[in-house]
Amino acid sequence: MPTLRTLQELDRAGLLSPDPRLATAAQSMAIAITPEMLALIDHGDLVHDPIARQFVPSPAETEVSADELADPIGDEARSPVKGLVHRYPDRVLLKPLHVCPVYCRFCFRREKVGPGGEALSAAELEAALGYIRDHPGIWEVILTGGDPLMLSARRLGELIRALDAIPHVAVIRVHSRVPVVDPERVSPDLIAALKPRRASLWLGVHCNHARELTAAARAALARLADAGIPLMGQTVLLRGVNDDVETLEQLMRALVTVRVKPYYLHHPDLVRGTGHFRVSIAEGQALMKALRGRLSGLAQPTYVLDVPGGHGKVPIGPAYLGDDPGALTSDSLAVEDAFGGRHRYPG
Ligand SMILES: *Cc1c(COP(=O)(O)O)cnc(C)c1O
Ligand code: SF4
Repeated sequence: MPTLRTLQELDRAGLLSPDPRLATAAQSMAIAITPEMLALIDHGDLVHDPIARQFVPSPAETEVSADELADPIGDEARSPVKGLVHRYPDRVLLKPLHVCPVYCRFCFRREKVGPGGEALSAAELEAALGYIRDHPGIWEVILTGGDPLMLSARRLGELIRALDAIPHVAVIRVHSRVPVVDPERVSPDLIAALKPRRASLWLGVHCNHARELTAAARAALARLADAGIPLMGQTVLLRGVNDDVETLEQLMRALVTVRVKPYYLHHPDLVRGTGHFRVSIAEGQALMKALRGRLSGLAQPTYVLDVPGGHGKVPIGPAYLGDDPGALTSDSLAVEDAFGGRHRYPG
């Protein structure tokens, strides 16, 4: 079965309840649901299904609040050449294309991704590589998009080789949803393309629910890990998808089990039309606190916020240290343990 790409196809697959706002929602962002993700959807409870909620357009997408932004993380402000974002001195994002295997309705680049947004032309890609060559402080290049693993193995291989040829680029990081949502794409050729000779390559895998880790996805991740590629996990905290401690605990355990180290839990960005996915920072911190008491350190992600306006990411996890109100001297701290107990520590 092919990937579903239109409202009509979603309707035929029994995924929609009629609503006049759906046409507007569908216009605001491309649609794609891969057969692997479609097979996971519980048609009996579409409203609460965490997979349907991520990929099926919702009438709620037409509600835009005053706080929401077209460029929520300020990529545009930090883009010296097309397709490249340079926010931190030592690393850049390189976005070779805009297409993705699925379109996540909460996407932080929701207004940029889609089949309409073309890949960088050969000249544009050369200009971006030229910028990296000219900036010896760039230690790490992060390929994102779109989804870089939607490039053909040949084009991906060419890009990785070009980066590998720049001596100051020590690390190439690739962020992708492909191994989870379209695992068959992880072919021997694609894996071979992900092996630079000199630089180190890390692969970040976007996964929001343990159910997404199907047998085929686990097998794809095992092929990547067996090829020696270190894997890290990225999860977006999403209302109605994973905003409860059991779901997050299961997801983080499942990731570690398939050799994916949880890296970031992203607080949802202020993307237009995504209010129905947003949780408060206080809720996110409470969830992180609960995870700390339940999960191995290996399975703990860092909870981060991308500061709107292009100011980068900062950890926003709960605090465990405070002033000790019962102390006789002022140089004492109260430290909270992972189970809620409070203890005094000399400041
Ligand atoms: C997220 C991001 C990075 C990578 O940040 P890390 O904290 O190193 O994962 C780099 N550049 C930009 C512009 C980013 O948005
Ligand atoms: S795969 Fe990533 S970039 Fe593509 S729509 Fe989903 S969140 Fe956005």
